[in-house]
Amino acid sequence: MEWKRKIWRNWEDSYQCVAEVVTANTVEDLRLVIEKARAEGKTIRVSGGGRPEAYSASFSGSPIVKNAENVIVRTPLLNRVWTLDDGSNRVTAEGGATLKELDAVLHRNRLSLLTSTAPNFITVAGAVALSCHGCGKHTGTLSDLVVGMTILDGEGRLVEIGEDDPELLRAARVNLGALGIIINVTFQCEPEFKLVATDTGKVSVREALDRAQHLYETHDYLEYFWYPFCDKVWVKTWDRVSGEVKNVKAPGRLEDFKQRMLGVTSDAILKVATNLPFFTPIMQKTLMAATPEQTMVAPAYEVFHYQNYFPRRLYDLSYAIDTGEDFSNFRSAFEFVTAKVCEYAKPKRSCTSPWGFEYKRGRQFVQNFIMHCRFIRNSDAFLAPAVGNHYTCMFEAVTYVGTPSKQYYEEVEAHWLALGGRPHWGKTYNPDLDFRALYGSNWDAFNRIRQRMDPEGLFLNDFTRHVFQVEKAGAVAPA
Ligand SMILES: Cc1cc2nc3c(=O)[nH]c(=O)nc-3n(C[C@H](O)[C@H](O)[C@H](O)COP(=O)(O)OP(=O)(O)OC[C@H]3O[C@@H](n4cnc5c(N)ncnc54)[C@H](O)[C@@H]3O)c2cc1C
Repeated sequence: MEWKRKIWRNWEDSYQCVAEVVTANTVEDLRLVIEKARAEGKTIRVSGGGRPEAYSASFSGSPIVKNAENVIVRTPLLNRVWTLDDGSNRVTAEGGATLKELDAVLHRNRLSLLTSTAPNFITVAGAVALSCHGCGKHTGTLSDLVVGMTILDGEGRLVEIGEDDPELLRAARVNLGALGIIINVTFQCEPEFKLVATDTGKVSVREALDRAQHLYETHDYLEYFWYPFCDKVWVKTWDRVSGEVKNVKAPGRLEDFKQRMLGVTSDAILKVATNLPFFTPIMQKTLMAATPEQTMVAPAYEVFHYQNYFPRRLYDLSYAIDTGEDFSNFRSAFEFVTAKVCEYAKPKRSCTSPWGFEYKRGRQFVQNFIMHCRFIRNSDAFLAPAVGNHYTCMFEAVTYVGTPSKQYYEEVEAHWLALGGRPHWGKTYNPDLDFRALYGSNWDAFNRIRQRMDPEGLFLNDFTRHVFQVEKAGAVAPA
């Protein structure tokens, strides 16, 4: 086991700190990490990453892992995945396994997850700890598929959590890494299914807003992408069919290359739009023009992970917002963004003009990438951003870092908060929020369990101490 005092950074390089960074891939090694940290009065956070490849890192864009002058552990090779051979369609994955590694075992065993994130490079523990999501009306986030978990607590004991203790399971499902070190996670899966996946860029913004509820109710999965200055929305719908149905136009051997090229191209376009804002509207039109018009049939995991390469410097304000029974909250959250983008752009005539000169002097193009809407059901975990909702839209308003948009994002965030939204834990750009107020009695329920499992605050950092209103002094008394 190698300990090194060095600089830890997240993938986007938006958070860094000097910490004791250690790689530990067995429970025994993790026990030694706990022992040493306690002896030195240090706290521990677990980070994704640690493998020698480009997409191995900590992908959270919030201060959820940063732990200056304390301990950060990586577990890249704690990555075995196995099925429970009891006919339950359940699979257990170690915390450091990537979603891609999980998919491979599911595929071999003819199983599917009901939902997953867009990229497949994040870790099982990282995705579950923060309630990471894709879309789908039959479930909430990946965390809602969790039926069991093994956590190593601050005393070095393995705590087995299962359905026999529903309260503890609700806490473990979205735990922010604050209950201990996740050793493994058990997911409820389904017999393998495929998805009929349709993309279209022909739906107008008005139609997309009017038909959101209908599309949500009549499809298994629904996503919207809106590029600023466009009057159309890219709509993705996916519907379940049996695993026996033949593939049609499924991603082939060139898919990885295609995705990589798309990642590089959109990065280049966003750099131009950020450095030469005059070209922002035409660049958005260019991105929108690349929307595929297609229908395919493919295994669920291939459809879920439609994007595995990303521009690195994205500011991605991300909130879970209750749609409201008639989807009026969804409409309000969506229209606030489109209206504000237009207001700041000061159009001479229309906010859908591609030409920079058709916007007045003093114009500001405050968002130069997508607004992404992924519809899910709701969540049961105490600390899931979608907890207690009717249906949820996971909103993201994304721009390249360097866009002049501070005030705009403050306004969007204030509106989304006023609608009862809660930020994605991995993209919480405003760490000073009052999380106790945001989560109410769910916060109390989680915090009671956290205090029981980690009375010394061994697994907290500055951000999570703020979340749980724990004083720093005396958080961990040296043993
Ligand atoms: C390009 C990109 C695409 C993204 N796409 C999506 C998406 O589609 N959907 C979505 O919801 N999010 C998405 N995110 C957000 C991101 O994936 C999440 O924040 C995720 O939690 C990162 O997981 P990670 O494996 O990188 O772990 P980290 O970011 O390092 O950690 C996440 C959390 O898990 C904890 N943790 C990790 N391992 C353990 C362990 N073994 N024991 C205890 N705690 C642990 C950490 O302490 C931290 O609290 C994306 C981010 C990026 C940069």
